[in-house]
Amino acid sequence: HYQPEDTRLYHFYSQEILDNFFRKVILETDLRQALERNEFQLYYQPQVNVQTGKVVCAEALIRWQHPEHGMISPAEFIPIAEESGFIITLGEWIIRTACTQIKTLQAEGLNNFSIAVNISACQLINKNFSEKIIDIINETGIAPELLELELTETVFIQDIESVKQKLNYLSQQGIKISIDDFGTGYSSFKYLQEFPFHNLKIDRYFISNIDKFKNKQVLVKSIIQTADNLNLNIIAEGVETKNELAWLMRNNCDIVQGYFFSHPLPIEELKEFLSSRAK
Ligand code: C2E
Ligand code: MG
Ligand code: MG
Ligand code: MG
Repeated sequence: HYQPEDTRLYHFYSQEILDNFFRKVILETDLRQALERNEFQLYYQPQVNVQTGKVVCAEALIRWQHPEHGMISPAEFIPIAEESGFIITLGEWIIRTACTQIKTLQAEGLNNFSIAVNISACQLINKNFSEKIIDIINETGIAPELLELELTETVFIQDIESVKQKLNYLSQQGIKISIDDFGTGYSSFKYLQEFPFHNLKIDRYFISNIDKFKNKQVLVKSIIQTADNLNLNIIAEGVETKNELAWLMRNNCDIVQGYFFSHPLPIEELKEFLSSRAK
C-alpha cells in the first residue's frame, strides 16, 4: 500500500546521503591544496600536573580553516585523509610543525616543555615511519624525550609484531609513547604490558561525570591501579568540572587535560597561558 509520507522521508534521507557524499568528495579534493595554502594550524591543549601545578606538556590538535566551509573538525577530515592516504603527507607536516614549536618554546626559556602529537595507525604502518620521525628530530634539533606520540587502540588491529618493533625502536631513541582514548576501542590490558608505553590516557567518556557514576568509578580505579603497577603515567582527558577534578585527585590521577583548565589554544595563547600560570 502506497504511503506518500514514507516517500518524502525516503527522498529526505537520500538527499542527505548525497550531500554527505559530495561534502566528502569536496573535502578530499580540497585537503591536498589546503597544505600549500596554509589552511592548517596546530592548536595546543595544556596538560596540567595537579600535584605540582605545573604544565610541562601540551597536546597538538590540528585545525582546518576552510575558505568556504569554515572551521572543519579533525574528527571529520582526519578519517578522509586516512582513506585517501594524504595523512602520510599531512602527518609529516604535523610532526615537523610540533617539533619546530618545541624548539621555539625553548628559545623563549621553556626548556623542558614537551608536545604530544596524535598519530594515525596508517602513519605507523607506513614503511618509513620511524626513520621520518628521527629525521625530523635531527632536522629540528630537539631532544627526542620532548616528543610524545599518541596512538589509539586501532594500532593493535594492524601487524602487531612490526608495530611493536617500531615502537620499541622509537622508545629506545627516547621518544615517549602514549596510549590514547584508553577504554573505548580494542583495549586489552595485555597490550599495555607488551608495548613500550609511557602514558595512558583515559578516554573522556569515562571522565565525564565520574564523580556521579559508580560504574565509571570502578572502571577508572582499576585502570589507574593497572597503570600504577605497570609504571605508566595516567592522563585524564576531557576534565570539565571541579567535581571531576576533585574525584581524580582523590584517586591519584596526577595529570589532567580538559576544558576545566583550557581549551586547545593557538601557540601564542598557549604561551600566555603558560606565563600567566608561572606568576
Ligand atoms: P583526541 O586525540 O582524543 O583529542 C581530544 C579531543 O577532545 C580534542 O578534540 C579536544 O579538543 C577535545 N577535548 C579536550 N578537552 C575536552 C573537554 O574537556 N571536553 C570536551 N567535550 N572535549 C575536549 P579535537 O581537537 O576535535 O580532535 C578530535 C580527534 O581528532 C582527536 O581525539 C584525534 O583523534 C583526532 N586528531 C586531532 N588532531 C589530530 C592530528 O594532528 N593528527 C591525527 N592523526 N589525529 C588528530
Ligand atoms: Mg590525543
Ligand atoms: Mg584522546
Ligand atoms: Mg578522544
